[in-house]
Amino acid sequence: MSNIKDYFKGAAQGLKSLVQGMQVTGKELVTPKVTEQYPENRGTLEISDRFRAELTLIYDAEGHHKCIACGICQMNCPNGTIQLTTKMVDLPDGKKKRKLDKYMYDLGSCTFCMLCVTTCPQNALEFSNDFEQAVFTRDKLVKQLNYRPEPEGEPAAPAKPAMDPEKLARIKAEALAKAAKIKAEKEAAAKAAQGEEKPATDAPASDASNKTENNETNS
Ligand code: SF4
Ligand code: SF4
Repeated sequence: MSNIKDYFKGAAQGLKSLVQGMQVTGKELVTPKVTEQYPENRGTLEISDRFRAELTLIYDAEGHHKCIACGICQMNCPNGTIQLTTKMVDLPDGKKKRKLDKYMYDLGSCTFCMLCVTTCPQNALEFSNDFEQAVFTRDKLVKQLNYRPEPEGEPAAPAKPAMDPEKLARIKAEALAKAAKIKAEKEAAAKAAQGEEKPATDAPASDASNKTENNETNS
């Protein structure tokens, strides 16, 4: 009797499990698909802007980048992924200026920590989300980021926003007051120094009077 009972109990459990499984299957059947049909959908594939695929220099419309070859990104990179070389160029006014020669980046050793991007004082770097970086040999992952031919002339300096006249007047007044204060302090210090020096200059005179007194007593 107990065997028949166990048989039906097991059958009921099996049936319940089957219904639960079919519920999951049915739910997934009507859920929108997230699988990407790559590479067939390469043209419509959307990659998040935040995805870090490859370090790049930011170029403006004229083909200028903002890197001044300061080397901060190279110093901050924990992996030695960035190697910069610089060159000296002659400016039209006869002066010399250090400029970027080659900006080499080894994608194969980059950990995408973004320290280089966040510490660049010129905001010259960014990460692209171009994820298709597969190559057959590692040496192809070493890339020159300043690959574009350098355009003539310097990049146009961004226009400075005009300062509020009231703010400008206040800054000028503060600067003048500060300069006057420093001048007064310097004068006071100079006077005090003169006062301290006086006893030293008096000393020979007292010596001389002592000598005269001695001479008088001797005579
Ligand atoms: S990318 Fe930025 S931090 Fe690196 S050398 Fe150029 S200016 Fe300096
Ligand atoms: S993301 Fe990190 S590891 Fe990659 S180049 Fe920049 S500092 Fe170096």
